[in-house]
Amino acid sequence: MDPHPITGHEFASPVPPGSGWPGDPATAGTPVAHDPAEVVELAVAAGDVTELEARVTVCRACPRLVGWREQVASERRAAYRDQPYWGRPAAAFGDPEAPVLIVGLAPAAHGANRTGRMFTGDRSGDWLYAALHRAGFANQPTAVHAGDGLALTGIRITASVHCAPPQNKPTTSERDACAPWLDRELQLSAPRLRSIMALGSLAWDATLAAARRLGWGVPRPKPRFGHGAEATLLAPGDRPVRLVGSYHVSQQNTFTGKLTEAMLDDVLNRL
Ligand code: SF4
Repeated sequence: MDPHPITGHEFASPVPPGSGWPGDPATAGTPVAHDPAEVVELAVAAGDVTELEARVTVCRACPRLVGWREQVASERRAAYRDQPYWGRPAAAFGDPEAPVLIVGLAPAAHGANRTGRMFTGDRSGDWLYAALHRAGFANQPTAVHAGDGLALTGIRITASVHCAPPQNKPTTSERDACAPWLDRELQLSAPRLRSIMALGSLAWDATLAAARRLGWGVPRPKPRFGHGAEATLLAPGDRPVRLVGSYHVSQQNTFTGKLTEAMLDDVLNRL
């Protein structure tokens, strides 16, 4: 048991559901998906995004990823050895009524897998939340840990895979297993959704595939990903939803200058 860096309450790593971690949407009674078929069943039956988030955070459908996220949580990086690791899937974070959605790839082993919140506690998140603050979506420019007071308005952040994968590379079957959570997120958001920002080509493809599975209008041939690329999806009732691509906020892109603050601001301002 170690103290949470903000609240000081003690937690085991990984963190048991409903044990008081800031922002934990699950309880000890939240139903757990143990295989891909149960992911489908529990995702479809989630009545709202809060219930969906809770079910995501206790999912155990991918044995390799469950093993990895929990191993990382129990071993921990030297710099964080005095704090507990979340060690569970990171659910969507942000405004439940948001008209704008960001879709990323997957949590980072020592970022969201440690803090329990999307893009929180790593360099990618530093970039993303600073930009969301500049664009007026976030109440503060920093994201250090769940419970730090960060709140988003008008935007939600989710991922195409909710568990941290080894080398940041989920397998195709793991991406497929996690897809029903994204499908349901889009379906529940559809009545108010205006635009989606896909961070990287994998998130772009995952979003297009989810839209297709839900029967939304998707342009053919498949729109190509690029920074600033745009496509119009048609949600139920032929409501247009703008899909905008952005290079991922990974260190590989931000350190090399492939993605600059101005480029990210430009895309966010178009949402
Ligand atoms: S990657 Fe998705 S489907 Fe697989 S265990 Fe994590 S949350 Fe469940």
